[in-house]
Amino acid sequence: MKIHDVLIVGAGLAGMRAALSALAHVPGMDVAIISKVHPVRSHSVAAQGGINAAIGEHDSWEAHAFDTAKGGLYLGDQDAIEGMCREAPDDILELERMGVIFSRDEKGRIAQRPFGGTGAVRTCYAADRTGHAILHAMYEQLLKHRIFVYEEWYVTSLIVEESGCRGVVAWDIQRGGLHAIGAKAVILAAGGSGRVFLTSTNAVINTGDGMALAYRAGVPLMDMEFVQFHPTTLKDTGILITEGARGEGGYLLNTLGDRFMAWYAPDQMELATRSTVSLAIGQEILEGRGVDGCVLLDLRHLGRARIEERLPQIRQLAIEFAGVDPVETPIPVQPGAHYQMGGVRTNQWGETELPGLYAAGECACVSVHGANRLGGNSLLETIVFGRRAGLRAAEAVASQPPRALSDATLRAEAARINKLMANEGKSLERAWQVRDELGQAMSLNLGIFRTKESMAEAGKRVRALKDRADRVVLQDRGKIFNTDLIQALELQSLLDVAETIVAGAMAREESRGAHYRADFPKRDDATWLQHSIARRTPDGPRLDFAPVTITRFPPK
Ligand SMILES: Cc1cc2nc3c(=O)[nH]c(=O)nc-3n(C[C@H](O)[C@H](O)[C@H](O)COP(=O)(O)OP(=O)(O)OC[C@H]3O[C@@H](n4cnc5c(N)ncnc54)[C@H](O)[C@@H]3O)c2cc1C
Repeated sequence: MKIHDVLIVGAGLAGMRAALSALAHVPGMDVAIISKVHPVRSHSVAAQGGINAAIGEHDSWEAHAFDTAKGGLYLGDQDAIEGMCREAPDDILELERMGVIFSRDEKGRIAQRPFGGTGAVRTCYAADRTGHAILHAMYEQLLKHRIFVYEEWYVTSLIVEESGCRGVVAWDIQRGGLHAIGAKAVILAAGGSGRVFLTSTNAVINTGDGMALAYRAGVPLMDMEFVQFHPTTLKDTGILITEGARGEGGYLLNTLGDRFMAWYAPDQMELATRSTVSLAIGQEILEGRGVDGCVLLDLRHLGRARIEERLPQIRQLAIEFAGVDPVETPIPVQPGAHYQMGGVRTNQWGETELPGLYAAGECACVSVHGANRLGGNSLLETIVFGRRAGLRAAEAVASQPPRALSDATLRAEAARINKLMANEGKSLERAWQVRDELGQAMSLNLGIFRTKESMAEAGKRVRALKDRADRVVLQDRGKIFNTDLIQALELQSLLDVAETIVAGAMAREESRGAHYRADFPKRDDATWLQHSIARRTPDGPRLDFAPVTITRFPPK
């Protein structure tokens, strides 16, 4: 069996950054990546609006750190926030040296645009295709350094032996077949879990596998109740309309033509934090001032030239998927699930409590975003903490001899997959049906407004769906490109993630950032300025709580 020095699960920005960092730190080290899709199809490619760094003349990393802590309603750990904001400028310059084609200002410097939840102009961008620009530049570096990628391999389980993580078991999607791959260190960089919800900006591959892999191996997930709902997704599709559109000056209007943000956030208006804007839109729709379940995003006053230069993709998406040209007509938008602030609990160096296991990027919770992530901070998180996790893993294993592995996990996983493949039943229920029901239950009951009753209903539905997920029937019993099988496995990840979201949300009797409870509408620092930590047990998640690290910004 192959045993790598460092194996990274995920080829998005966090995964690729981690791989390059490990190799740069210990040249010649055997670093490999495993990914269920080709690297440049990772969801990072879809990031639109930009990446934050205090590189402007009138900005400072301290101001960035303050905005991040405040924007996250003080639930983020401030030592991690400080590290991220301090290192951001150097990381941006390094990205530029790698060849990322950032947009430029009139003086030829990296251009920056305003984003929500901050007074500063801090978001670096490449038109409205920032993720695309960074991910492709990073992939070129991967090729240049000849880092091996298991392309289109699906990781089904971590291998945990002698109380450490020793590799993964993975299904080769192209050829079929299950394999154990050893590693002295494994870094989870498997992205988000937006597909737990029906309306989501996330790619269909964002099924929370990384979080589920850790959770099943006994590693806790932190702050899972904090799911960010992006205020502006295109009507009925969930397609993201970047915050950059409001950063460029777009207005939000209700059916009466009012710029309603004046009532909810008179100072910051459309550029208040995402949780504030999402709640405001939800309230307008609820009180009957919506337009067909949406509100309107008006860009007309920006003019054709600016829209074509700065927001070309937004224009194209609105024309193709909603039939409106934003140059002439406002875009119908509604909130949709966008980002998981919680994830695999790690320290600032990506280390989890399981020796040999690290996590970075959206699947991890370091935690920098607290109860609400600022736009542009997630791409930054993937770069800073991907780099840090790669470095720390490389350091840890550099002088470690490889250890032999048993085939116990491989056999257990083979039995699990064979059982799934052999499922027969009168109901002939398919994985996508259960997945759809899960999405509906979560969007309806755990969306921007939550109550005890709605969450209890979601919990009941998730438990019932878990039983059904074990019995779904695969129509494809073949080995080659069996997407039916992959969907059935992804469904189990979605359900594991969903149960932790429900548990955290039920327990947290307050409203903070993205977690808004109609029955507890106030933030309660005295009781709830703490992280929720979910561990797996046979009877569902068990919750503990841990203090938040406060350094220089006392909660206000
Ligand atoms: C539409 C959209 C726009 C966004 N815009 C912005 C923005 O402008 N600014 C910003 O800061 N943030 C933005 N975000 C958020 C940000 O893009 C993501 O949080 C970030 O890119 C996640 O990167 P990642 O490397 O953690 O994961 P991803 O890029 O999602 O990569 C995950 C990787 O894990 C692999 N993987 C997953 N499961 C398995 C498995 N079981 N086996 C093998 N491989 C697996 C996948 O193949 C993939 O390679 C946006 C998000 C969306 C959805």
